[in-house]
Amino acid sequence: MKVIGNQALLEQIGEAVKNRRMFHACIISGPRGIGKKTLAKHIATAAVCTEVQPPCGRCSGCLKSEKDIHPDIDHVKPDGTEIKVNQIRSLRASLYTLPNEAPCRVAVIENADCMNVNAQNAMLTILEEPPSSVIILLICENESELLPTIRSRCVHYRMQPLPEEIIKDELLRRKSGISADEAVNAAKKSDGILGRALEIIEAAAGDGYDCQIIEALCERSVERLITLAATLEKEANRDNLCDMIRSVQKTMGNAAAFQAGKSDNWSADERRLASVYDKKAIIRMYQLCTALIGYCEANVGVGHIVGAFASMLSEEVNR
Ligand SMILES: [Zn+2]
Repeated sequence: MKVIGNQALLEQIGEAVKNRRMFHACIISGPRGIGKKTLAKHIATAAVCTEVQPPCGRCSGCLKSEKDIHPDIDHVKPDGTEIKVNQIRSLRASLYTLPNEAPCRVAVIENADCMNVNAQNAMLTILEEPPSSVIILLICENESELLPTIRSRCVHYRMQPLPEEIIKDELLRRKSGISADEAVNAAKKSDGILGRALEIIEAAAGDGYDCQIIEALCERSVERLITLAATLEKEANRDNLCDMIRSVQKTMGNAAAFQAGKSDNWSADERRLASVYDKKAIIRMYQLCTALIGYCEANVGVGHIVGAFASMLSEEVNR
């Protein structure tokens, strides 16, 4: 996924990457939904790219990073509500080994402001004597939660809100079926935060859980699938759950037909799904829907069905 706006920041990063003069550690901060993870992925991809103009988007390093399966990129996320010292210790062990295939190792710490004190101190020991070819990206909303000694050892990228015009264009590009007025209104209410504008559009589309599930799959976001499952478990009953799964299944079927080269007026979602997953994955997800529709008809509990749906789709995302 592409970083939107933030041109000055991207140029600065581009220069550093091009000359292979990367920092050891960097804090990426900004409000929720502003694109911090997207920027982190951009930097990580550039760092593991093996071509002369990183990120080239085509080499095996870039492609693996895009799918979150690069062996030299470690991801750390909160275990429950915090990031614990053991997680940082095992990261440390990994960072002190040589990269498998990339020019360097990268660590992406999501919600770095959730590191507890012990974890932060462990992080500090890594930053004090960083292994030579290692890049650590600390993503956080609130950098003041990080120890001053950590902050002083990091380059700091603060992501800026986007102009309304850019948000409007991006909404129209990503969301088929919305009007220019809807895009303008959502952009106005979003405070320049693309993620927020997308939420406004999705909320206005009614429940639209089917679309949101497809979106989460296209973004390969397990986090979003789990959040959706939690909401569905509270709000769905067996009938509307069954309708929702049928609708998701229909999108899968159409994506498979599009992949097979059949021509029709395919929607943006169907095309996108077809580009993110291969034929086998789409067929597996289609069959999963068939099984779950059977469960709905056999009166299996909503919680069980939603749980199975979320966990099996998450497996496809991570595959
Ligand atoms: Zn590349």
